Amino acid sequence: MLKQNVYDAIQEWETKTSLRFIEGTGYGDYIEFFHGDGNYSNSIGRKDGKQVISLSETGSNTGTAIHEIGHAVGLIHE
Ligand SMILES: [Zn+2]
Repeated sequence: MLKQNVYDAIQEWETKTSLRFIEGTGYGDYIEFFHGDGNYSNSIGRKDGKQVISLSETGSNTGTAIHEIGHAVGLIHE
């Protein structure tokens, strides 16, 4: 269940870093998770307002969510 993957990923980030995520309804600076065509974050690092993370309905898991949240908070890879 994808929403659970997101919750599990957030728990992983909160357990291992000082980052904290608060579930909301789209106010201020926030990340919207959705089922898109593939797995990606639309930004590297926090940006003003809405940023999005796509998690493929059939091709993602908790690890994918952890990975894409990493991009949303500023991690980049080759
Ligand atoms: Zn990546």
